[in-house]
Amino acid sequence: MRRVLLMAVVLAGLPLAARAWPSWLSFGETNKVVATPPPPLDFGGPVKAGDCAVTFDDGPGPHTGLLLNLLTAKRVKATFFVLGEHAKRSPDLVRRMIAEGHEVENHSWDHPDMRKLDEAARIKEIEATEALLKSLGAEPRFFRPPYGAYDSALIAQARKNGLEVVLWSRDSEDWRYHTVAQLEGKILPASQGAHGVFLFHDIHDSTIGAMAGVLDDLAIKGCRFVTVAEYRDKNPLPEPRLPQLTVPRPASAVQ
Ligand SMILES: [Zn+2]
Repeated sequence: MRRVLLMAVVLAGLPLAARAWPSWLSFGETNKVVATPPPPLDFGGPVKAGDCAVTFDDGPGPHTGLLLNLLTAKRVKATFFVLGEHAKRSPDLVRRMIAEGHEVENHSWDHPDMRKLDEAARIKEIEATEALLKSLGAEPRFFRPPYGAYDSALIAQARKNGLEVVLWSRDSEDWRYHTVAQLEGKILPASQGAHGVFLFHDIHDSTIGAMAGVLDDLAIKGCRFVTVAEYRDKNPLPEPRLPQLTVPRPASAVQ
């Protein structure tokens, strides 16, 4: 019953929020960028549950406040990889994320494919976002490149800024899938334990509408919810931390 009530509260806020969100800001179906394979970030046993880091990219958006309500109700600490331009527009949501114990990390200023930028532009994307997030009280530790697209120079530049490039291990593909069952089908593959770094986007109303059910089911399957920093501290990556990118993903796969 509590779950039903929560869903009702979440869904009730969606129509108004959706109207306020220009469609071009949805980094999903319209962007055709060749992204990259994620690094090995999944350290649980093949069938055993373990640490689960729930991450939300591309916000804050008009639905993010509803998501924060839900995370509080579920007592889940999440990690938000925000865009500088969106944080600038909704600074109070970023402050609220921090105040409520979530992690706020750097996802660039306006979501470019960083590989296509020259050095000065890369630095601007990272540093302008860093400056804004720090002014709001965040202490970013990670940089997640848009579309998961990076190269070795970007990893080096992020390190100069005190940031580690980090991707995810299980992609919900929530730009394409919208129901609880579909999303869980992507992040909880058959015969795999519930663990890893899960990728979602808080700019999609369908994602936020489904999240109560997803979080409930992850908890039932034994997830221990952690932030990405907690996940990384408990699971050191071997060097090199990220593979060199040679295998393109399908052009339709965007993050
Ligand atoms: Zn993104």
